[in-house]
Amino acid sequence: MPFGEEVTKFDKLVTDVARTAIDEADVVLFLVDGTGGLSEWDDAIAKLLRRSGKPVVLAVNKVEKQEQQLAVHDFHALGLGEPHPISAMHGHGIGDLLDEVVAGFPQHEVETPCDGRVAILGRPNVGKSSLLNLLTGKSDALVSDIAGTTRDAVHTDLKWQGKVLRLIDTAGLRRKARVKEAVEAFSNMRTFRALEQCDCAVLMIDAERGTVSQDAKIAGLIHDSGKSVIVAFNKWDLVANKTKDSHLETWQQFVDTVPFMTYAPRVTLSAITRQRSGKVMELVWKVLEQRQKRIETRELNLFLEGVIHRQPPRFHGGGTAKFYYASQIGTAPPVIMMSVNNPRWIARDYLRFLNNRIREAYGFEGSRIFLKTKAH
Ligand code: GDP
Repeated sequence: MPFGEEVTKFDKLVTDVARTAIDEADVVLFLVDGTGGLSEWDDAIAKLLRRSGKPVVLAVNKVEKQEQQLAVHDFHALGLGEPHPISAMHGHGIGDLLDEVVAGFPQHEVETPCDGRVAILGRPNVGKSSLLNLLTGKSDALVSDIAGTTRDAVHTDLKWQGKVLRLIDTAGLRRKARVKEAVEAFSNMRTFRALEQCDCAVLMIDAERGTVSQDAKIAGLIHDSGKSVIVAFNKWDLVANKTKDSHLETWQQFVDTVPFMTYAPRVTLSAITRQRSGKVMELVWKVLEQRQKRIETRELNLFLEGVIHRQPPRFHGGGTAKFYYASQIGTAPPVIMMSVNNPRWIARDYLRFLNNRIREAYGFEGSRIFLKTKAH
């Protein structure tokens, strides 16, 4: 039996991954194979599902022949409600199945307004939950192991200097996955989700270990999303032989590993000793403000004219670019559109040069500036 005395390591892993997936889901679509009858695994997973209290839609796949239709009824024994026969290969029953899944989605409460949404992201064990607990003033007691018995808040609102900052996915941070492999798989999923819902990410790095390639991956996700970011080097208390330059060295090592994120403000802190932990929210707020900023079109054009005049583009890709007009067409994140005679004649380096000048002049700390070009 999968959950008997002799649980193999593999069984345990599958079970842990299944449990974590169930924890994360609003509705579970449980897919069983209709050709082989009920299996031990079906029973075992059904048991987990019944205990979870989550809405479950049971789909019986590979139901293509008449006699298989009858076998579908066997799956009533799982105690998960009506089994839905489908054929993924032929596309039978899929529409109804999706209707059923969607019907199980929770009714989203109307979100109360807030001044900014913040997600704490980073590799497992860098100290995300510790910071969260510090900020929210809660003990780091774990929620019950059985999903559904304790519903922890998904988001937590934090009052900060008269503002309401919403911390995203606080339940996900408190609920630790049970084994390392599950941690890896689901921390990625968490990162995607939390990133989607936030305005500003706190990218947390273990300062004692320094920036590693997995940190760079998360940084890449944030950069691609266009969400704003601050970098928080945690566990500063563990960094040995600190000098007045240690924070610069820590930052330089980050930049060497994550060269594309130099626009992020940074802080070194300790979630344990609380050293500079207050600075995190200060920076987050600054970044959220900068994210909303809009440069007047007249001002932007005057500025760019000056920059381009002092260092004009060179001949590139068959011609020399000529700039006509620029305007900031978007905020949060900032998007600037420039009309040029031919976008292909602008070298990447030149765009980077313009981007750097705009940042020097206007800040936009913590936000990626999107510079776009279109043919005039
Ligand atoms: P998460 O997986 O990123 O949520 O990390 P946790 O918050 O669970 O922290 C992982 C471990 O690091 C725990 O044992 C924490 O007590 C410890 N930890 C977190 N922050 C700090 C810190 O600033 N200094 C020290 N010394 N330990 C820390």
